[in-house]
Amino acid sequence: MDRPSPATQDEVRRHNLSSLLRLVHVRGPASRADLTALTGLNRSTVKALTEDLVSAGLLRESAPVGTGGAGRPSITVEPESELVYVLALDIGVEHLTVVRVGLGGVVLDRRELAQAPKDYELRRTLKRLEKLVGSLLADTPRKARCVGIGVGVPGGVSNDDGTVRFAPNLGWTDVPFREHLTSLLGTALPIDIGNDGDLGARAEHLRGAARGLTDVIYLAGEVGVGGGIILGGRPVAGHGGYGGEVGHMSIDPKGLTCRCGRRGCWETEIGDQAVLALTGAPPGATLEHVLAAYAAGERWAQPGMRRVARSLSLGVVNLVNIFNPQLILFGGAVRNLYVALQPLIHEALKEALQAPGEQVRLGVAGLGDDSVAIGAAELAFSRLLDDPLGTLGRLPSTLRLPA
Ligand SMILES: [Zn+2]
Repeated sequence: MDRPSPATQDEVRRHNLSSLLRLVHVRGPASRADLTALTGLNRSTVKALTEDLVSAGLLRESAPVGTGGAGRPSITVEPESELVYVLALDIGVEHLTVVRVGLGGVVLDRRELAQAPKDYELRRTLKRLEKLVGSLLADTPRKARCVGIGVGVPGGVSNDDGTVRFAPNLGWTDVPFREHLTSLLGTALPIDIGNDGDLGARAEHLRGAARGLTDVIYLAGEVGVGGGIILGGRPVAGHGGYGGEVGHMSIDPKGLTCRCGRRGCWETEIGDQAVLALTGAPPGATLEHVLAAYAAGERWAQPGMRRVARSLSLGVVNLVNIFNPQLILFGGAVRNLYVALQPLIHEALKEALQAPGEQVRLGVAGLGDDSVAIGAAELAFSRLLDDPLGTLGRLPSTLRLPA
């Protein structure tokens, strides 16, 4: 029988450094005693590993606070959030956001522009990103180090080459976006691109309203509706990573034409443009305006919003029956819809099969509008977390836009 070859000392050390850094990154400041207990490593190993991560500039040690309890107080280690960061780019249909996120998941700084259809053209998107990133970097301390760039897009992305295969609401097909960003930013830093729904789910699972749960569906949307699915604690995105496109689940074959070319997709009924159209909202009205009118009992808003509630519920019930999630989270504009229509949606949950219907909870995203950016940041941090010292050794030293 073949035995796996024993791990080399280097591999063991890399694995231990990775576990330790990941723990501090996800949980925040921890004492050496906590880390010893959580990793199952012995005290002297934890001491040596934390010292390595401190000398590499990834963690910092602080003096023990308080001497309550028995035994010597333990030194606390925390991530060097101000000095080690990633750039997270959230390419939305209604906003373009660039966030500087420090190790430990701390939002350090952000820039945002509103987006309209005229902005989706690729060159224009790149120009606007250049402006946002330039402004953010101008305010970044010189000694801070960028360790990666993560990007969320509202569409399907090829994991292999960073091509956006489809992003119907931006009108993008087969855009080699990683290539464009690499030349725009003039950097050898790794750029990782993911689907916005998957990234939102990842962030909510790690740091938001779904922490500690194993089976979660995250829904978010503006014009389109995206989703991310986590089952058994792991993201589920299918063979090529294109799964989870819940917004293109057809709920009415005779319905309106979707940006994807098909009819009656979920987002043609619950996306925010759809809500404006279905309620017959006055010209210039926003989703907030319609929701306020509905809540105030204004008659014009009632039938349309009941139809939206019906469509939202249909999709939710399908997801409950197929995936048996513990929690469905509503983010983006869908969060506002859910909040407004909560009683109707909870009532409709009775249509789900009994057992999964009883087990599911519904709630709102815990990270507000930052779920996608924080998920993109996690994607960008993953290399460093997998191999802290090796990754640092391979990184270019600075990030600055070409003059
Ligand atoms: Zn569609």
